[in-house]
Amino acid sequence: MFQVYAEVSFARMFTRTISPMLLSGALALVAPSAAADRPAGPDPRALWDGWADSRFVTTSAPCLKPADLQELLRALAAKHGDALRLEEVGRSFQGRPISMLTVGRGPRRVMLWSQMHGDEPSATPALLDLVDHLLSRRDDPVAQRILDGATLHLVPMVNPDGSEVYERRNAQGIDINRDALSLATPEGQILKALRDRLQPELGFNLHDQNRRTAAGDTGQLASIAVLGVAGDAAGTMTPGRARARRASAAIANALAPFVPGAIARYDEEWSPRAFGDNITAWGTPVVLVESGAVPPGMAFHDLTRLNFVALLTTLHDLVADDLAGHDPALYDALPRNQTGAWADRIATGALAWYPGATAATRADLAWDVRRSDRELAGCAPPQPFSVTVEVGDARFLGGLRLDLAGAELTPPLLASADAAAPWIDETMLERLGALGLGTLRLHGAPSDAVRRALDAGRRAGRPALVLVPADAPRAFLQLAAPPRTPASRAMGDLADALAGPAWRESLRGEADGAVVARLTTGARFLPGTPASFLVLRRIPGAGLAAATVERVVLDGLEPGAQP
Ligand SMILES: [Zn+2]
Repeated sequence: MFQVYAEVSFARMFTRTISPMLLSGALALVAPSAAADRPAGPDPRALWDGWADSRFVTTSAPCLKPADLQELLRALAAKHGDALRLEEVGRSFQGRPISMLTVGRGPRRVMLWSQMHGDEPSATPALLDLVDHLLSRRDDPVAQRILDGATLHLVPMVNPDGSEVYERRNAQGIDINRDALSLATPEGQILKALRDRLQPELGFNLHDQNRRTAAGDTGQLASIAVLGVAGDAAGTMTPGRARARRASAAIANALAPFVPGAIARYDEEWSPRAFGDNITAWGTPVVLVESGAVPPGMAFHDLTRLNFVALLTTLHDLVADDLAGHDPALYDALPRNQTGAWADRIATGALAWYPGATAATRADLAWDVRRSDRELAGCAPPQPFSVTVEVGDARFLGGLRLDLAGAELTPPLLASADAAAPWIDETMLERLGALGLGTLRLHGAPSDAVRRALDAGRRAGRPALVLVPADAPRAFLQLAAPPRTPASRAMGDLADALAGPAWRESLRGEADGAVVARLTTGARFLPGTPASFLVLRRIPGAGLAAATVERVVLDGLEPGAQP
């Protein structure tokens, strides 16, 4: 959901703030080379570069439905014949097949499972890409070493019912990852049965985390978080857990060049109902890999690419020397996952007006522009919306900053119009938004065009539409005709363009607080609400109505900005 680079008009206004410290931190992750007798492993850079053209699954992970996956699995099996085994290991609650791929003939049994949470798909295509990569290069020494040294069991989609509707939980409404003890879900039973049947020496539990999780207090989002899962509440260090920690360090090492500073350590707290924790307790040490933010300048599918590179390099080093070249100290040194430390946009230094106030007061505003994974991946229409995440002192938040020192913030303008007005349509809403209109109260029975706009729902960069009865109280500003071209960007002139100058008479000589109360929605800036406001620059000595509206932000975006 993190998406700053596409919002060009806004992004231009902000300065990206990344500490130079991060770069040195990333370099520190590149481990000193391992023992000299260790066979040469795969080159992460070559894997990264080669993936784009050679990947087996070209559909972006959030767009991959369970039926598509089944088709791809059959195609993969057909392509490689006897070299792999495709097996249905059970059915989901709604009867969808759950499949496992097995490749390799070596003694080291490794199990990898993905998409236990239906809306956490990033690693799923990477598992198929990995199998295809190995089997397409059977004569390559690296692939040969992995296939001879290990037997890989891969379950790409543990929760097909949740994946079908892009939801975390299964069709019973149960979080499979909190079902390791109850085993009330067929999916959980299948996972447990596989673990018990295969007795793997290492497991990879592949998820996606909140995409706005920061890497410590670095001001940067985590694109990958790793965890060498503990098998008890005390976090006892067993040989298996030590292996999982080395594997986590191997992942961090492999990925540091591609997402410098964006690799974090997941929360180590024991989670008694979770699968990763219990599979570790049952005897298979588990590495948790959580895909997070789409790295700046990259696409959603690059999360899949990170998983592909991480898994292939780590599996090689597991087979080569039990990951001896990867120091768990590197894993320990990773910045910790941190939530609540990031906002997509941070407007700092302005004074904000509150309903009924006699003066504006200091308040930073921070907000996120929410977009679904499926939208980011190109398989759902754009429907961004905003959520205010902080009001007040936002100095420690990471994100794109807009320096508004000396500006004043008010809620956007509010007006009423007849819902049947023939001139109100989608194009007109853009124009009204650009004039600072944040909410349009529509009275009476709506026209077809207004009905369509209402049905389209909340949209960033658009005024909010509220349908009310014909006799509901009218707003102070009333739109009787299409807006005129404003004489200037002064707030009063924008109000004139919308509603004509008649409003001025009743506000003559009134204080700024009264102007704000009458012309605007009077909304309070509050976490959890949409981020809609005007940025005003006052002309010294003049009232607020004469101040220039420098910027309009409606539900997180400027009108006309590409989401
Ligand atoms: Zn998850």
